[in-house]
Amino acid sequence: MSYFLKRTENNLWHGKFSTFPEDLITHAVSTRLGGVSKPPFDSLNLALHVGDEPADVLANRKKFIRSLGFNVSDIVTPNQVHGDKIFRVDENYRGCGCENYADSIPETDALITNTPNLPLMLCFADCVPIFFVDAENRAVGLAHGGWKGTLKKIAAKTLLKMGDEFGTRPKDCLIGIAPSIGACCYEVGGAVIDKCKAAFPKNFDELLINRDGKIYLDLWRANVLQLLEIGVPEENIDVTEDCTCCESSWYFSYRAAQKKNLDRTGRIAALIALN
Ligand SMILES: [Zn+2]
Repeated sequence: MSYFLKRTENNLWHGKFSTFPEDLITHAVSTRLGGVSKPPFDSLNLALHVGDEPADVLANRKKFIRSLGFNVSDIVTPNQVHGDKIFRVDENYRGCGCENYADSIPETDALITNTPNLPLMLCFADCVPIFFVDAENRAVGLAHGGWKGTLKKIAAKTLLKMGDEFGTRPKDCLIGIAPSIGACCYEVGGAVIDKCKAAFPKNFDELLINRDGKIYLDLWRANVLQLLEIGVPEENIDVTEDCTCCESSWYFSYRAAQKKNLDRTGRIAALIALN
């Protein structure tokens, strides 16, 4: 695990993978600390669609995105729907979704690009952020894997799409799986269990963990397995193993909020750009 938290000059934290080439890409995972949003979005909520004050979200976005050397108007962000649509963006999409949720790339759960200085940003509260870095062909990707996306194999599909678009080969791609809900906390029911068995007929035993009569889904391993299946070497895949529900003082967590009877919470963001 190469993930670490680095404090920035403007008093934020950047979650980073030390395996990623700093000369080639800029990337970070945000935390919930250092923003201006009020409970239950306290405080660095980066999502416009969750019921928070838009002005607060924009102030938070400005602080986080500037801490990475970009302006808010640079980012491209999608309207995430737990699907498996992957969209290639270029200069024409700069600023989509940056200030208005309605302008987001529609119904998309992964973005890929080979355009330099075009930051891709996705939002998360327990779902799995998956970073892709292809240093050979100078391309990057970012995917959102909740249980639906994970079982639809969005991680594998994103990498294969990078292959079609940029010539990315699984053996050359570096993957980072960022903080998200772990098998320690992610209890699932019948429908998810059935879909997991259908998606991973050979190895669902590894993914569905029985503990005290309850079943927990290991989303991290499910994403790793689908990447191994298409030829990514295991040593190229870095799994953070930080659970957002256990670490809900650091990260927004939908499940942790539910336990506190909160029906809403904020979102952390993952951001990546080619330099
Ligand atoms: Zn946990």
